[in-house]
Amino acid sequence: PDILDSIRSTIRDVPDFPTPGILFKDITPVLANPTLLAQAIDGMIEATGLTEVDKVVGIDARGFIFGALIAERLGAGFIPVRKKGKLPWKTRGVDYTLEYGTNSVEMHLDAIAPGETVLLADDLLATGGTAGAALDLIQQAGGQVVGSTFFIELSFLGGRQRVSTSGPVHALITY
Ligand code: 5GP
Repeated sequence: PDILDSIRSTIRDVPDFPTPGILFKDITPVLANPTLLAQAIDGMIEATGLTEVDKVVGIDARGFIFGALIAERLGAGFIPVRKKGKLPWKTRGVDYTLEYGTNSVEMHLDAIAPGETVLLADDLLATGGTAGAALDLIQQAGGQVVGSTFFIELSFLGGRQRVSTSGPVHALITY
């Protein structure tokens, strides 16, 4: 509780980023604090109740930070899901809808073997479009989604509904 208060007060609200009207949750001050960073990673793992998983998938770009640290702690492999055109080898892609237009994310074809257990990690759950697309990619590869863990959930945007169809959803800090 004390720890969560410290983390909460360290997250920086940035008005009108990246576009007017958006209040952006800047997590970089948490990353910069060694104690809070360790507690954030511990908290995101504890929330899942998992002690073992084959792969952790992290979403471009802040999800790489949380996902890779979580993977290392769980003794799992780390898999990046990236924006279209960034991964060097053969990929599978999924398009998803944004408020205006569409976006695409990709994963390497050999990233996940059928039957492997997979935890999804990202910094923030908003509408759930991004995480939902990543979960589709994992399931198309035959991965068994054991959960999703987010550093922050903006619950008023309802992303949990979209993401929970693929498995349990956990968040350390909720607004
Ligand atoms: P969604 O697809 O759920 O609408 O948006 C979530 C994605 O957008 C995440 O990958 C997250 O990194 C990014 N995102 C959206 N809003 C914010 C924000 O306020 N702060 C941070 N750190 N990331 C955000």
